[in-house]
Order: sequence, then structure tokens, then C-alpha cells
Amino acid sequence: YPLELIRNFSIIAHIDHGKSTLADRILELTGAIKKNEENKQVLDKLQVEKERGITVKAQSASIFYHHNNKDYLLNLIDTPGHVDFSYEVSRSVAACQGVILLVDANQGVQAQTVANFYIAFTSELTIIPVLNKIDLKNAKPEEVTEEIMTIFDIDPDSILKISAKFGTGVDDLLKAIVDRIPPPTNCDRSAPFRALLYDSWYDKYKVRMLILVGVICQIFVVDGTISVGDQIQSHHTGKSYEVKNIAYLSPDERPIQKLLAGQVGILSANIRETSEALIGDTFHLKGQKIEPLPGFKEPTPMAIICLVHVVTCNNYLQVYAGIYPIESNDQLALKNAIEKLTLNDSSVKLSVESSNALGQGWRVGFLGLLHMDVFNTRLEQEHGTPVVVTTPSVSYKIIRRIVRNIPKQKSKKATVVKEEVEEFIVNNPARWPEDAANIETYEPMAKATIITPEAYVQNILPICEERRGEQVDIKDLDSKRVIMVYKFPLNEIVVDFFDELKSVSSGYATFDYEDAGYELTDLVKIGIKLNGNLVDELSFIVHRSKAQVVGRKICLKLVETLPRQLFQIAIQAVINSKVIARETIRAVKKDVLAKCYGGDVTRKMKLLQRQAEGKKRMKMIGNIEIPRNTFIEVLKK
Ligand code: GDP
Ligand code: MG
Repeated sequence: YPLELIRNFSIIAHIDHGKSTLADRILELTGAIKKNEENKQVLDKLQVEKERGITVKAQSASIFYHHNNKDYLLNLIDTPGHVDFSYEVSRSVAACQGVILLVDANQGVQAQTVANFYIAFTSELTIIPVLNKIDLKNAKPEEVTEEIMTIFDIDPDSILKISAKFGTGVDDLLKAIVDRIPPPTNCDRSAPFRALLYDSWYDKYKVRMLILVGVICQIFVVDGTISVGDQIQSHHTGKSYEVKNIAYLSPDERPIQKLLAGQVGILSANIRETSEALIGDTFHLKGQKIEPLPGFKEPTPMAIICLVHVVTCNNYLQVYAGIYPIESNDQLALKNAIEKLTLNDSSVKLSVESSNALGQGWRVGFLGLLHMDVFNTRLEQEHGTPVVVTTPSVSYKIIRRIVRNIPKQKSKKATVVKEEVEEFIVNNPARWPEDAANIETYEPMAKATIITPEAYVQNILPICEERRGEQVDIKDLDSKRVIMVYKFPLNEIVVDFFDELKSVSSGYATFDYEDAGYELTDLVKIGIKLNGNLVDELSFIVHRSKAQVVGRKICLKLVETLPRQLFQIAIQAVINSKVIARETIRAVKKDVLAKCYGGDVTRKMKLLQRQAEGKKRMKMIGNIEIPRNTFIEVLKK
């Protein structure tokens, strides 16, 4: 495939606007997969993706397409749409020259449509605007065209209209991909080999079957050629490897001998350590001196690497939680599982942590709670390592000022006043400093965009206010919808704001946010005591104005979530050692077995078994059983 016949593109859209369905149709129309009823979201390979019907990881497929008497190679990269996964979107566009901007013809432009548009726009990619679901009775193509025109300044004549479900218009879309998107730019096949590593993962099955050792790398070849048997070297680590396999995804793996500049594909090369396959790294031939591809940064602070621009994703938009194995002897298995998943997702931050009650574990930073939830589900489903997750927290900035009187030299009485300033980040409430008088606390802020039908504005205003939101802007988007811009403290919106927004707007409002820096604020730590013992894993940070209310709420929530035990449990919320709220859970009197009439052995066995299964979902803290979802549940409304 000469460069002129290659097109690399991805599909970007708000969630549920039909990306995965469109990918299926494109694969069918070009013969990459057979047309049949079973082909539902073939690129969504992970179990969590199938169960929840959302795309979590970007997946790729190479497609062969005949047009104008020429054979084209189209490389399609499917991207996730949820706000938590925008990192994957940026990564996908790094290997692309164009995108399909898909908009549901009934729902119109939504918050993530806007966010994704800007990722593509600032990367200077060709954008093909497409209205999807025109088969729907209530599709409003004229209205949505108008919207796209005003919001994105896009020429209405360039907008295509399709039904991904029925395949209408998808042929014309394929033609537009070839006609409008340029072939890979800045590629030189006669130059020394250079490739961008833009994704990598670990194939457990293949390793077990001894087909392969180590990590699979997805690469975009920018210059030169790479063949099986070549020695490649990582620019970043300096380590070199022999290329064992090369393949393209169609979407199944098809082994090939080499890849040329402009192409994307996967390779394996006995890269064993997850830390050796860093997203954004440049591969070159062993021993050759080359310019690294632009944009590589150490994963912390995290950077999203694109060929054309660099987006730095700041740490402070992350949500942190402690992750611990349910059984302490699963420690090593969990370590391996976490390493494999993070290899694949460098937006996850990782450090070791330990807790008195839960033992040895990890502090893990995510882009949001859905991201966290999906990560934990994958740990359990794909690696068989269920976990306990502690109460999530954002990362706060603390400035500590200590004034010291230092005696002047020579003179015994005179002193100089010296101020020492120390700045640090706390993302674990257990590490909150106790010298309240000396510290200033800063919390991370988020600038949020909410798009909603006008009718729900009255419901949304109070929930924004309750979460300490500050209105920045509110204006009409079109005749029926309003766009609201708010500044929120991040910790007020990470846990369940999106759920609440959906429920007060009958599911119509959409939401996206970006970072807005740190702001000085007045925060306190609320500790939770169970029978007088501080359970630091349950403690959390709140704004002082809310301490009383939230303390009470958490106590009540614990009464609801903690199972009754054989003894009474006193729950107290404390600030320093002052009790601000308390509740009690009464003891259960009867043993579960007391319910069985003597002699019925099977019934007794069943009950015992059920009790044992229930225990697996529990964690003992002191002598109290805590269901493992308690830590997150307490923060929800
Ligand atoms: P994604 O989240 O953007 O990947 O969206 P999906 O491809 O998973 O589609 C979301 C839902 O919209 C699914 O129930 C699809 O069947 C449906 N859908 C997608 N395209 C069309 C279309 O052209 N017409 C209709 N009526 N439904 C569609
Ligand atoms: Mg999808």
C-alpha cells in the first residue's frame, strides 16, 4: 500500500450516538466481518464492555476498500465516548489524520460531542460531520444541522446523513473518508524506521498457551519499515528486542511479515516488563540515532501524546482510592493484575499504600468513578482478583507555614523571624495533616459544561448550588436547549453528580468537565469511629460548612449499609476528637442456625454456605464485618 492509498481515522461521538454500531456496519460493508445478527459491537471485546454496552478501550481494525478502481487501506480506531475515558480518545487520534464526528440526529450535539470535537480540532485533523439515526421517527436532521453549524462553524453541505443501524448512507461515508481525509502526512518510507507506540496490552490467553511472551504493542509506523526478525530499540528505556510477530487487526489478528510507514499494526517482541512499553514511546532500529517522535513525557505527571500536539492532563483532575485484596494471600496476584491493566491505561496513577485494617495495598488514581468501577470490575472478571476499594478522594494541595525565631549569631537575645513554607499534595484522608493552625488548604476545581433541555433548568440550578457550584455562564443553545457553565469543587461532582443530574433531567442533561486549577478553601477531615476505634479507611475530607450535615448523613448511611452483628456497634463522626454525629446499630440476638429446626442437614449446609459466600464480600475491620462496597456507598446520596 503506497501512502496515497492509506487513510487512518477514528470515530468520535457522545456516548450512545452509535460509534460501535457504525464500526460494525463499516466492517460488514467492506467484508471484514460477515453480515449476521450476532455482529453486535464486535470491537467491544472486554467483558465489561459487552455487559454495559459501553466502549472502554479504543480498538482498531484495518479495512480493505475498493473505490475509484483503487484498493485502499483504511485503519479504523473505535474510541470510547464516556467522559471518564477521554484520555483514550486523545491517544486514538495520535495515529489519525481524520475523524468521523458522529451526532445522533434525535439528541443533537451533547457535552462529549463538544469535548471530542475540540480534541480533533486542536489536533488539526480533518473532520467529517455525520448525522446518525436518521431512520428514527423523531429524528430532527434540520435542527441538528443548524446546531452543528452554529456550535462548530461547520459547513452544512459537508454533513452526511446515515443510519448506522440499517446501513443507509454508510457507502457514501466510506467514499468521503477516502476523498476528504488526507493520507498519512510527514511519513517517509526511505528514512530510518521510527514508530509511535500508542497502545499496549497483555494477552493472558496467549501467554498461557505459550504462543507469546510478554506485551503486545500497537504501533503507528511513521518512517521506514519494520520486519519480523528486526532488532528494535525503545528510545525511552534504551532496551532492545527482537521482533517476533507482526500483525494487523481486521479485526481479528492477521499475521504479516512487515509494516511500512503510514500503517498501523501490532507487534510482539518479548517485552516482558509492563514498565518497558510506555505509551507515547518511539521505537527505532537497534543502535540507530533518530529524533524521537514529539511529545513523550514520563507517565507522571501524565501526558497524552499526539503527533501534532501535546495535551497535558493534570494530576489534579484524578480521583484516588485505596485498592486492597479481599484475601491477603491474593497480594501477588493482585499486584500482577494491576500492573497489566495499568500498562494498558497510563491515565491510571499508582503507588503503594498500607492500612492498619486492610494490610498492604495500592493508592490508585482514576479519571472518574466510572473509570474506577470499570477498572475494579476488570480486575475481578479478567484477572480473578476481587478487591476492596476505600473511600475515594480528590487530591488536595496543602501549604504549611511555620514561623521560627532563630537566634542571631553573636547576640544572644535578638532573633530573626524566618518563615518556612512547605507545599504538598494529599490524596488519602488518612494522611491529612493534624496541625490545622499552620496549614492552608486548596481544593481542585473543575469547569463543567451542562447541556439540557430548557424545561429542566429549574431542577438543575439547586443541585449545582448544593454542590457549591458557581455559575459562570448560562445561555440558549438553540430554541429548546440551554448550555450552562459552572465552576465546581471537584470533590462535589466526582461521586454521584452525573447520576443526580441524569435523574433530575429525566436522563436528558449531559455533562463534561475540565480542570480549573486549585482554589484556597476551608477543609476539615471527618473521621469515623466504630465502637470507639478510628477507621481511617472511612474518613473523608469536606468543606467546613458541610461538616455537620455530611457527618450525620454518613452515620445514617452506615446504619443502612453495615450488617447487624452479634454485638452493638456505636458509630461516631469526629473532627479531631470532637464528636459531631452518632448512631447505633443494635445487635442481632439470634444465631442464623437457630432458625433451622434440628435435623435438617441440607438446610443447615445451605445456610452455612450462604453465610460463607456473604463473608467473601466482607472485610473484617477489628471485629466488625464491613461489606466491601461500603467505602464508596457512604459518599453517595
Ligand atoms: P456508542 O456508545 O456510540 O458506541 O453507541 P452504540 O453503537 O453502542 O449504539 C447505541 C445505541 O444506539 C444502540 O442501541 C444502537 O442499536 C443504537 N443505534 C446506533 N445507530 C443507530 C441508528 O442508525 N438508528 C437507530 N435507530 N439506532 C441506532
Ligand atoms: Mg461503543
